[in-house]
Amino acid sequence: MFDKILIANRGEIALRIQRACREMGIKTVVVHSDVDREAKYVRLADESVCIGPAQARDSYLSMPAIISAAEVTDAEAIHPGYGFLAENADFAERVEKSGFVFIGPRPETIRLMGDKVTAKKTMIEAGVPVVPGSAGALPDDPQEIIRIARDIGYPVIVKASGGGGGRGMRVVFTEGSLLTAVATTRTEAAAAFNNPEVYMEKYLENPRHIEIQVMADGGRNAVWLGERDCSMQRRHQKVIEEAPAPGIPRKLIERIGDRCVEACKKLGYRGAGTFEFLYENGEFYFIEMNTRIQVEHTVTEMITGLDLIQEQIKIAAGEKFTLRQRDIVFEGHSIECRINAEDAFKFIPSPGKITNWHTPGGPGVRMDSHVYSGYTVPPNYDSMIAKLITYGATREQAIARMSIALSEMVVEGIKTNIPLHRELMQDGAFREGGASIHYLEQKLAQRP
Ligand code: ADP
Repeated sequence: MFDKILIANRGEIALRIQRACREMGIKTVVVHSDVDREAKYVRLADESVCIGPAQARDSYLSMPAIISAAEVTDAEAIHPGYGFLAENADFAERVEKSGFVFIGPRPETIRLMGDKVTAKKTMIEAGVPVVPGSAGALPDDPQEIIRIARDIGYPVIVKASGGGGGRGMRVVFTEGSLLTAVATTRTEAAAAFNNPEVYMEKYLENPRHIEIQVMADGGRNAVWLGERDCSMQRRHQKVIEEAPAPGIPRKLIERIGDRCVEACKKLGYRGAGTFEFLYENGEFYFIEMNTRIQVEHTVTEMITGLDLIQEQIKIAAGEKFTLRQRDIVFEGHSIECRINAEDAFKFIPSPGKITNWHTPGGPGVRMDSHVYSGYTVPPNYDSMIAKLITYGATREQAIARMSIALSEMVVEGIKTNIPLHRELMQDGAFREGGASIHYLEQKLAQRP
């Protein structure tokens, strides 16, 4: 096992990884920017290295700064968390070339899955169902593009091959606007992702977002750890996640889980990963694979009893893979609310000093957060400041516990989206379960 791991991230996930390491007796090095100097997890770390100013470009995204921090502290492995450099194949490669272990998949796998056209092709070959669409990238010939769209049937969605974070996508409802949409998406994709390649898919009008968590050893061993429903989204950003997904027959989930495991074995996938699907009318359609730990891994931990960060570390250290599909049991229900420092109505970020922070507790309540009374939320990063997770024997109990936990929680000094979560816990469609990815936007649009 490793003696020392460097955590190349910040915020709640830096603390989450640190906790996993401490439990395993592994020393931690935390890298941080100027503004994160006072963070509690920085002080709790065995060592910390300031790697630059607040702007992520010069700190959390600086590969040379992170690698030199690993060199001077003699860390053996680097955990990238999520966001920042977690899905950057060049970073993974540089980490390994510099003699450290990258806690994640091989650089080639990250590269393959980072390009949505090659990812989709790989899934088709592995027998994973995908959204019907163009065979690979769109050609230049306008007549060909028109023909492809007619074959798929309107509405279609034009997507950038190198896209991510909900950007580089355009829905097209009629042939009249097709060619302009393709041209605009190409131009945007070239500027934003340095790759003008675009492809086309059938636009599913009322799907749910269902994803499958996998864990694999880089060889022939892989398991799937259940599904998560992440359909409550605003601007393609997840707001609430839960496991299991309400109302989907277990047989269908098991079938798709097995396909994902087969794909992992074919790929020689290493570490934690997520297959994201749209689910409509009883069918799953692959959209992309995330080659890292995800924000919402917690709900899977709650219903499986596993520690996914520790599993990642064990795989990276080359320990014998002991997870067996038949040993994995799913018990109860778990929900996660992402608490953001933002206005709950206008969604404008609300950084600043937290003057009072009172967290809930009690049975089945888990709080993953790095903040505290007196902490200043910097304006430079993502607005998520906490994840409130509840667990119950049933979905009803998990919701009841979440409602109580949200009612106990006090945050003063900054605005948060807690009022929105309180509202959603009482929302008829949420309580029923199975709302589509458009539900929250539609509900918000109807607010007075
Ligand atoms: P990103 O990498 O930018 O997150 P995804 O391919 O995962 O891009 O898509 C993000 C979101 O866009 C999905 O969660 C879904 O809401 C929507 N979306 C993507 N493809 C389709 C599609 N074919 N039909 C309907 N919605 C889609």
